[in-house]
Order: sequence, then C-alpha cells, then structure tokens
Amino acid sequence: MTLYLDYNASAPIISDVVAIMNESIGIIGNPSSIHSSGRAARKAIEDSREIISKTIGSNPKNIIFTSGATEANALALNCSKTMQTFISSIEHDSVLKQNINAKLIPVTSEGIINVEFLESNLRKLPEDNIFVSVMAVNNETGIIQPLEDISRICKENNAILHVDAVQAIGRIDISMDKLNIDLLTISSHKIGGPKGIGCLAVSDKVYTVLSPIIMGGGQERGFRGGTEAVNQIIGFGAAAKYAQKFSLSNTLTTRDSLEKNVLSMIPDSIIIGKNSPRVANTSLIAFKNISAESLVIALDIEGYEVSSGSACSSGKIAASHVLRAMGLNESLVKGAIRISLCRSLNKSEILSFCTILKRVINQLLRKKKII
Ligand code: PMP
Repeated sequence: MTLYLDYNASAPIISDVVAIMNESIGIIGNPSSIHSSGRAARKAIEDSREIISKTIGSNPKNIIFTSGATEANALALNCSKTMQTFISSIEHDSVLKQNINAKLIPVTSEGIINVEFLESNLRKLPEDNIFVSVMAVNNETGIIQPLEDISRICKENNAILHVDAVQAIGRIDISMDKLNIDLLTISSHKIGGPKGIGCLAVSDKVYTVLSPIIMGGGQERGFRGGTEAVNQIIGFGAAAKYAQKFSLSNTLTTRDSLEKNVLSMIPDSIIIGKNSPRVANTSLIAFKNISAESLVIALDIEGYEVSSGSACSSGKIAASHVLRAMGLNESLVKGAIRISLCRSLNKSEILSFCTILKRVINQLLRKKKII
C-alpha cells in the first residue's frame, strides 16, 4: 500500500468531481455557439465561474480561465515587463521566469517576505507603473505570507499587486476583495480538481493594463483565445465548492504529531519555518548529510510518496531556491523533504512513517560512511 504525501504537487481528484465531470462530458456545444447546445456549454462555464469567484472573493465576470497556474502567472506578469517590477525571491518559477529584470524582494531567515524592503523601495519610486508579485503561501515550506501588509504598501504606492494563491486555496481564507488584490492566480489540480485548468482573477481596475498572451476568437473577454475547456472548467468549479468548506484541524493535529515524532526519533532533523505561520498541511524537514533525492527514492520504495524541494518540473531535483533565499546551510538545503497532506493520518500511520524514515536515513548515512 502506498501512502501519498505530496498534495502540494497535486491533490488526488475528489470522487464527486469525477462523477460531475463524467456526467458533463456529454455537453457537445461550443460555448460561443448561440444554439441550445452552445448555450448549455456556456451556462456550465458561467456556473463554474460563479462558484470559483465565491471561493476567492472576486467578481465572476473577472475570472479568466487558463490552462493552469503557470499560464495564469504568465498572463498576469506579461504587462509587468514595461513596469518597475518586484517579485519575491521565493516565488514559483512560473512567476520568477516571467520577468527576469524584476527586482527580487528578499525573505527573512523565517521564510517571510521582507515587508520593510518592499516598503522602502516602493517609496523611492514615482507612484505609477509599479508591479508587485508575491505568493500567498509558499509551495515548499507552507509559510503564509503577510498579504495584508503587502497589500497596504501596494495601495499606498499605487502599485499593482499580483498574488499566486495556488497553495492557499482550501487552506486559508483568501479574498481578493477584502485584501485589495489586483490579480490572483489559482490552479484546479491543487484543490482536488482536474489537471490542466486554472484561472487568473482580475480586478476591474487592472483590466486596462492586462495584456493577453494567447489571442484568438475573443474568448474570456479577449484575454485568452481558444475554445474553453468546458469539462475541465466544470470539474474546477466542483472542486472549488469543496475548497470553500475546508477544515484542516485534523490535518494540523497530524502534522504536529508527525513533526514531534521526527524531531524526537531522528537526531539533527530540522523543521523549516517551525516558528512561522504555516498552512496546516505542509511540513518541510531537513536532515543533515542526507541527499533528499536518495531519501525520496528510498521512501518511495517503502511505499511513501513525498517530494524534495520544489518538485514541479518532471523529475527535476534541483536545490531549492526558496531555502537558499532563507539563508539555510547548504547541507540542509540539499537534504530537505516536503511532506504535504490533506487528510488526517491515524497514529499508527504516523508512527510507521517515522519509523521507516528513521531506518532509511540510518541506511543512507551508513552507506555514505562506507563509500
Ligand atoms: N504556483 C505555485 C505556488 C505552485 O505550487 C504551482 C505548482 N506546483 C504553480 C504555480 C504551477 O501550477 P500549474 O501546475 O497549475 O501550472
């Protein structure tokens, strides 16, 4: 039996979502057609838009469906290339690589975006043409970022604020309206929906600056050409409904108990961001003198699926830029694994995992000595 502990990479699709998608696969119309079949497809899309907008506190007409968060981030940042842009140094590559001229906002050793740095830099600039991109929750550490402060600073300096909220939805409350966010990215497969669909939510104010990357038949208010992925959008909407009712109190108990066991059973283990606000489902643990890659493979053989660093690109195991930005010692950077959950584990599952982890680490350390 395999225990999947990699929800931040992708959450298993919710069974009700599968049922809804199976039922809707029969929708044959193109949502742009005006006949009945077209209108049925259009209605299904608009219903999903409505649910998603409720989940993130935005206006339904301002949701632009994309092929996922990577495309939504690319669309958001496309207009930043002609602006003074600030991107946090712990962003996902799908943000970092969009604007290589952006100034990086450092993070503290606790993994939190340096708000003072942002504030003092924005103050020096003329109050227009500024773009800021920060994430709500880091995908590797699970650390929650101070969005209220960042949003206030952006508003005071008339800067456009983009937030990658991929790892926040269904884990913390996040409302575009309440937080005064201009652009917000989310992805369906991180919340139990199908892969290959996501969206960018846009505030009324920034429509004028947004610049499309895929032009075509004028779909999605002209900001994303191409026939909408009706079936996936329906699945995304269904998953977003679940994300509105999140309750992670059991997950938090599991996470805390898992970390307590690891710390007591395995010497030299360190919980990254232990004293920072974190989402309940994520634990990033570093082990001295261990290669995270070998550890992930060894745990997989034992039936536990975890990830090392940022596991978004296929099979790529690169040392984490997030941990480097936090100033972590290189040996720990290379030896960190991420455990991300979405349900509570029982006591015996936690104990079995920790026992195997300890055994595998001891084996790896012994092997290293022999070599
Ligand atoms: N942003 C963050 C914070 C992520 O964790 C990910 C996926 N790991 C993405 C963006 C990219 O999402 P998608 O797979 O939908 O393109």
